[in-house]
Amino acid sequence: MKATQIFALSGILGLISYVLADGFGVKPNNPQLPGVPYVVHDGTRPQPRMVTPGGGGVVVKAPSDATVLFDGKNLDAWTSKSGLPTWEIKDGAMIAAKSEMTTKESFGAIQLHTEWRCPAGRKVQDQGGGNSGIFFMGLYEIQVLECHENKTYPDGQAGSLYGQTPPLCNATVPQGEWNSYDIIFTPPVYDGEIVKEPARVTVIHNGVVVQNSRAFLGPTQHKKLATYPKTHPLTAPISLQFHGDPMEYRNMWIRPLGEYDQQAK
Ligand code: MG
Repeated sequence: MKATQIFALSGILGLISYVLADGFGVKPNNPQLPGVPYVVHDGTRPQPRMVTPGGGGVVVKAPSDATVLFDGKNLDAWTSKSGLPTWEIKDGAMIAAKSEMTTKESFGAIQLHTEWRCPAGRKVQDQGGGNSGIFFMGLYEIQVLECHENKTYPDGQAGSLYGQTPPLCNATVPQGEWNSYDIIFTPPVYDGEIVKEPARVTVIHNGVVVQNSRAFLGPTQHKKLATYPKTHPLTAPISLQFHGDPMEYRNMWIRPLGEYDQQAK
């Protein structure tokens, strides 16, 4: 084959892979999602409407019974596969680096608060440049993504149940500004190997509800349809995704939700 032919062929192959790639405006060859006329990571799914949050990110200080996961000073609550936390701390924020981090403690049903941002001036496109995520029980991702002006497939936007459900609206503030998440997560309830209640999540993004007690189809998957495993832990560590981007988090705390009708001690 002549060099020009190889060049033309590689161009065609590149175009095909671009067309098949997941991204904004692209309907990829991924599995159909149940109950909606869209596939996983469907770039033709309607883009959630923009909402400008009144005042941007909401700072909520840790209540008295909270477990503080990050207060700007140290990464004592965190570990990683290497056995040590891998992220950096700068100006009171923890910055994603090197690998995923997980909490040392395990949690079930919780309320979580944090603030996050994508550094200003960083080049962001679709899923690249401004991507992280909060994995409840290390399994269920609420997406963290710079998408104030950046378009992507809606089930991969900030506040999405990644690969499953887009946010009700897009409340992301401009790149470089702090967003807030207040999230209520409930694990699935099993009866033997049967899922009696799916995992559910409510997400408030910058004071705006973007997920309303939404059920997960199963633990988060990429390009695949999520389904529940036969067995499931009752509690597990939270993990924070490192997707190659120096996304920043601050003021992260959680509260285990406990049960109703418990006597005060
Ligand atoms: Mg992510």
